[in-house]
Amino acid sequence: MGIKKEIKRPRGTRDFTPEEMERREHVENLIKSVIESYNYRRILTPTFEHSELFELKSGEEIREHMYVFEDKSGRKLCLRPEATASICRMFAQTLRKERLPLRLYYSYPMFRYERPQKGRYREFWQIGIELIGSERPEADAEVIDIAVNSLKRIDLNFILEIGHMGILREFMKELGIRDDIQPHLITLIDKGDLDKVGRIVDNKKFLELIQLNGHMDVLDDAEALLDEYKRALESLENLRSILYWLKILDIDYRINLGIGRGIEYYTGMVFEIRIPELGAQSQVCGGGRYDNLIELFSGIRVPASGFAFGFDRIMDAVELQGIDIPEKRVDVVIAPTNQNMREDALKIASHLREYLSVDIDVMNRKLGKILEYADEINARFVIIVGPEDIREESVTIRNMDTGEQRRIEIKEIMNFIQ
Ligand code: AMP
Repeated sequence: MGIKKEIKRPRGTRDFTPEEMERREHVENLIKSVIESYNYRRILTPTFEHSELFELKSGEEIREHMYVFEDKSGRKLCLRPEATASICRMFAQTLRKERLPLRLYYSYPMFRYERPQKGRYREFWQIGIELIGSERPEADAEVIDIAVNSLKRIDLNFILEIGHMGILREFMKELGIRDDIQPHLITLIDKGDLDKVGRIVDNKKFLELIQLNGHMDVLDDAEALLDEYKRALESLENLRSILYWLKILDIDYRINLGIGRGIEYYTGMVFEIRIPELGAQSQVCGGGRYDNLIELFSGIRVPASGFAFGFDRIMDAVELQGIDIPEKRVDVVIAPTNQNMREDALKIASHLREYLSVDIDVMNRKLGKILEYADEINARFVIIVGPEDIREESVTIRNMDTGEQRRIEIKEIMNFIQ
């Protein structure tokens, strides 16, 4: 007797069944088709990088949760926790001669050592885009437009909130808040921990500003609060131009100047998309403008903006909002009636596979059992291959939805199955 050794999957990871993968792929393809319709091209970066890459600018939240390890030569590496830093490194290393703007996208898993819970995993998937080379508000608007249209293509309901790191950063600078404190402060703003923010920044206007949340009137309120803070006001003007383009694109949004984003490299517009039904982990998308990150790796200033979807949360939202995903079905199960019919059955299968998905019995089952199997896996048709059929260069075809069964010539099969 063998010895059973139970090994479970690591905490915070998941197995995906074929049914789940079909649903995930369907939704992933919808998002990819929208992204590609804006002329974005897919890239791939390594699963692990030098951990320094993310330690530089990815922010406290990410730094604390990195999967860091040493390889056999003593290099300090980590499983990628996000893609933007990798893509900036890739730009500096391999893409710097490319014509700008560069429109890139990715779809792959990220790794963060977090406490697993619903909507928060240690291995999770992101689909994201980066628009590299433009500092124009139109570029920011394009990035938001893609995020919004991707979710609309899936038929999801969601809330879009837009903020601006430039306003916050310039305001902090003008208030004399030290550079090294700013990232921590932004993390606190992002978490909505106003008490702690208040202890660091003793300025009523600042505290009011980060609580502004609403529609267009927020901009006027912000302007009133910022009257003496000129550089922050300039950033507000930039936000106005972005919103102008969004209006033309007919995008519905709220303005929330308290969006901090846990990631340090954002410099301008930032946005988040939430789906409230998801509960505590309701954010399905985060993005913004990062004008200094590429320079950090390449030495040349190249402005950029982008976003990342949390794909697993999108899939949870698809379930919660009851969105219908068409079931994927095998077209044909081929059933030889006895062992002598196997050769003909295989030839027919090979021929049909040029056009259809075809399953053939490999269990030496009797016809009745094959029909049961075809019914259980929800096949569209069964093609029965028996001696009388073959004598007439025919097969017997059964439509599993209607139960209708008839003999047709082999060369007619494709006309019958449409
Ligand atoms: P971030 O890179 O932190 O801005 O995250 C972008 C998106 O990825 C978030 O809006 C989430 O939807 C998703 N996300 C982040 N962390 C996790 C996680 N641990 N598990 C699942 N999704 C996540």
